[in-house]
Amino acid sequence: MTNLIPLDFHCHSTHSDGAYTINKLLDLAKANGCKYLALTDHDTISGITEAKRYAAEINITLISGVEISVTWGETSVIHIIGLNINENDQNLLNNLEKLRSQRFNRGKKIARVLEKIGIPNALAGAMKYCHSPEALSRTHFSRFLVDHGYVKPGQAFDTYLGYGKPGYVAQTWAKLEDCVSWITESGGIAVIAHPCRYALSQAKLLQLIHDFKKAGGRGIEVISPSHSRSESRKIAVIANEHGLLCSLGSDFHDTSHKSVLGVNPILPLLNCKPVYNEFNIMEQDLI
Ligand code: AMP
Ligand code: MN
Ligand code: MN
Ligand code: MN
Repeated sequence: MTNLIPLDFHCHSTHSDGAYTINKLLDLAKANGCKYLALTDHDTISGITEAKRYAAEINITLISGVEISVTWGETSVIHIIGLNINENDQNLLNNLEKLRSQRFNRGKKIARVLEKIGIPNALAGAMKYCHSPEALSRTHFSRFLVDHGYVKPGQAFDTYLGYGKPGYVAQTWAKLEDCVSWITESGGIAVIAHPCRYALSQAKLLQLIHDFKKAGGRGIEVISPSHSRSESRKIAVIANEHGLLCSLGSDFHDTSHKSVLGVNPILPLLNCKPVYNEFNIMEQDLI
């Protein structure tokens, strides 16, 4: 049996591409035994105040978080988590707003491409799953494609929306250095999200870590549903070698997801430096 701890530093609500409202998300986390939760919506911190308020009511410690979309090099899209950011930081708020303002336009382009290959009304269809135009994500298109029978569950990215597929529309997101500085200047810790998901060579991954640390980044996600056990171990070893703090997250979006919201397996190596220690959460708090 895997040992689980009641902590989760990566999840999404309806403020981005999660299917659960803040209250439902927190209720589910609580039902799963969660004590410490970071809300990390894509390119927005609009849910944090509400989440903090409700978390206090149900006795969960809410860490303010965000997951920022970054374009690194020519084409690689990388996600950077900000933990313990200041949700009132004006520089962070302004820059996230600029990023989000690109989302609806890209959505229109995705819908146009899908129309050309015989899938009409995708923009309106995707928007039915989405709470505001500036939150529009490929996840909302994937829900539309599945629910309208264009693809089987779990196939929308491989068939249409993923990199190199017919419905893929390239988008330039934030620069890595800028994103890390917005996070750190607001008092947060920047963390590379799901590092094994980007299909980077070992050399490229080490280059990413180099650029990230140079910009002031301090952590990396070791535990993620995007990682196999051996990938988690590999990242834990790299984290130790490069002095990075280790993070853990379910990356929960909805219940079709394979991970459980609010809890995570323990870090794979005893000498891992957990990022949660930086927030005065100690191992004895996680029993
Ligand atoms: P976007 O930021 O709109 O480009 O959408 C990215 C989101 O799509 C990610 O945050 C994931 O939630 C989701 N996503 C990306 N790739 C996949 C995949 N292969 N399978 C399922 N969801 C994916
Ligand atoms: Mn997502
Ligand atoms: Mn991500
Ligand atoms: Mn995520």
